[in-house]
Amino acid sequence: MNNGPVTQLNTDQINRYKRHLILPEVGMDGQKKLLNAKVLCIGAGGLGCPISLYLAAAGVGTIGLADVDVVSPSNLQRQVLFGVSSIGEDKVKAAAKRLRDLNPDCNIIEHKMIVNSSNVLELIRDYDVIIDGTDNFPTRYCVGDACVIMKKPNVYGSIFRFEGMLTVFAPHLPNPLRPGERGPCYRCMYPEPPDPGSVPSCAEGGVIGVLPGIIGTLQANEVIKLILGIGTPAIGKLTTFNAMDLEFRTFKLRRDPNCPVCGDHPTITKPIDYEQFCGVPALDPKSLEETAREVQNAKGTMKPQASDLDDKGLPKGYQFKPDWEVTPREVKSMLDRGEKFVFIDCRLPNEYQITHIDGTLLIPVQQIGQRVGEIKPHANEKIVVHCKSGARSLQFTQFLRQQGFKDIKSMAGGILLWNKDINPGGPQY
Ligand SMILES: [Zn+2]
Repeated sequence: MNNGPVTQLNTDQINRYKRHLILPEVGMDGQKKLLNAKVLCIGAGGLGCPISLYLAAAGVGTIGLADVDVVSPSNLQRQVLFGVSSIGEDKVKAAAKRLRDLNPDCNIIEHKMIVNSSNVLELIRDYDVIIDGTDNFPTRYCVGDACVIMKKPNVYGSIFRFEGMLTVFAPHLPNPLRPGERGPCYRCMYPEPPDPGSVPSCAEGGVIGVLPGIIGTLQANEVIKLILGIGTPAIGKLTTFNAMDLEFRTFKLRRDPNCPVCGDHPTITKPIDYEQFCGVPALDPKSLEETAREVQNAKGTMKPQASDLDDKGLPKGYQFKPDWEVTPREVKSMLDRGEKFVFIDCRLPNEYQITHIDGTLLIPVQQIGQRVGEIKPHANEKIVVHCKSGARSLQFTQFLRQQGFKDIKSMAGGILLWNKDINPGGPQY
């Protein structure tokens, strides 16, 4: 295995790949191309799982996987490489184990790392095709730029809620939809990163579990076409998929001659600081914390969490606004004393179903305009509002104060803090 290029298939391999071998478009030569191909999948999450499973099954000889994360229970809803026994394990390690079992022909290379400007060129250097299966903008720009600089095709996919998209960025290759032109790059499609915080992640917005399976499988198909040199690669062609109504749509993408990285006079010729460029970190500290908590919970090694709270029961360093906020501990003692107040939960009904505090009145912040009449009779009473982590309830409080409500405050830290400090073990989502 992996002693130089494969020049001949052995009997086991002929047997394993015979459905490929009888396809004239693949055949013996094509299967050898697959076995000799080197593909790097950046991200071993929702997209990386189906991508690497199908590439390993197809006999792609070298598959690199780059990811820094560990497997957590909430990954299992869509990340089909992993099982309960992998919880807490490095994703690249757990993935490699599964892929080697699926196909011992494959050399699986584990890159446990955060891909950034200091390592990306070295990382992708030896691979033929790069796959972007990441979930954040700094890494996407980083991978996008590096692929242009190193002249590697970038098989890109992204998913959110019920919608996904994919395309192949390759400014060094012809655009099949525009004779005489070359393909676009990631920056041709997205010249500027979105405003920090304006685009919610899958962790914030949710994602239907089969969606990465569909988009990732289509990415794997593009990779195989590129390796074999068959069909029409999705260069210059963006395909979107809507899972709700089974709708595929395609859009033509053009290379921008003024693109700073793939244009006629590029100004970006080496990787830049992408976290600074996008104004957000590649790895969200909140999601890291969530993963650690989920893993500890699942493994029954949850330690008491009170230690990272201050003497008011607020996260250390929290900027408490006493005029606007009340702590979960204060709310708890109000409840214990039997104090009369209106307790409003301003999240969405599906969030309420995940976890709620008994006795709260559910009025989503989105409906405050229409439903303010329901609260008007309580205008002279004490009101406490909470949401998930304290931002929406502040908006809610602000709105009601503008409407003349005086004694209304937002519960700092929301139900997540409540479930940490007052109701430990209550769901964190
Ligand atoms: Zn470009």
